[in-house]
Amino acid sequence: MKYKSSMKHKSNKENKKSTMDKTELNFSVIAKQYSGEDEAYKFLESIRWENGITCPHCKSKGADFIEANDGIRKTRTGKITNRRIWRCHTCKKQFSVLVGTIFEGTKIPLSKWLFAIHELVACKNGISSCELGRKLGITQKSAWFMAQRIRSVMEHNSFEKKFSGEVEVDETYIGGKEKNKHASKKTANTQGRSVKTKTPVLSVIERNGKIYSQTLETVSSRNIKAILNDRVSKEAILNTDTFSAYNTVGREYGKHNVIDHGRGEYVRGNAHTNNAEGYFSQLKRSLSGTFHHVTNKHLDRYLAEFDYRYNTRKETDGKRMIDTIRKSVGKKLSYKDLIQ
Ligand SMILES: [Zn+2]
Repeated sequence: MKYKSSMKHKSNKENKKSTMDKTELNFSVIAKQYSGEDEAYKFLESIRWENGITCPHCKSKGADFIEANDGIRKTRTGKITNRRIWRCHTCKKQFSVLVGTIFEGTKIPLSKWLFAIHELVACKNGISSCELGRKLGITQKSAWFMAQRIRSVMEHNSFEKKFSGEVEVDETYIGGKEKNKHASKKTANTQGRSVKTKTPVLSVIERNGKIYSQTLETVSSRNIKAILNDRVSKEAILNTDTFSAYNTVGREYGKHNVIDHGRGEYVRGNAHTNNAEGYFSQLKRSLSGTFHHVTNKHLDRYLAEFDYRYNTRKETDGKRMIDTIRKSVGKKLSYKDLIQ
């Protein structure tokens, strides 16, 4: 291996150049500019290290690019790889831009990851692992694993700003419709709010703002209260339907508007849950059309994906993609984590 120290400065300049116009990214730009592994690596480097290369092992700045012998880099097992490798000035360890990201240890080319991220941020109804696999020329199983890793980046965190102003809270139930099932498969009393065959989902929406959704074990005032405590500021005005689980918790907030759907009431001035209902209908349409079998244990990740697209709806696809890549640093997820 030869070490070339002059690459450090050059590469920073290169990085600046390639951060330009990234918000204009779309499928054809990615296909044209980043379908080569070298370009895909440089692209990721330019996002992750926009303020200079930082060693993922010791966090110190400065590294040399390691040129491959005769331009060909091989792994320990002798396989040719396009990985761009750096050597830290301080701890002398080697690393690529993939270390410590959701891409670490992947056998799938980075260029395919970029496509996959684009599809997940840009497809309004989501994309099934079958379709993603077909588009990328990989197996459905690999595509599923990629998508799950990308979804993990989209998950909410507890540092998000609490919702204020007009806030809508509503629940829905995801799962098979009892009336479509064969009589022998039907469970008694499962239509409506029963959770025997369906998974309840609670969504909280700040009007003209963001959404937070999660599955509930049971729809109880206690569970709803815990979520609202975490996510909604006490001055907010809550808008809900007449479901009794909202009654007690509603008193803790600035105001509680209750809409009586049972009596045909849907909007009363500012009081309504139309945004939540619109969100649920799109979610259900997408889940039944695109994802035929979303098991309950994975539903929270799908909700995170749908919430993420909703919460970034005012951004361009390119900007969302860059932000998603930026967030992928420091998010590792093993296959074991995923299937648990
Ligand atoms: Zn280091």
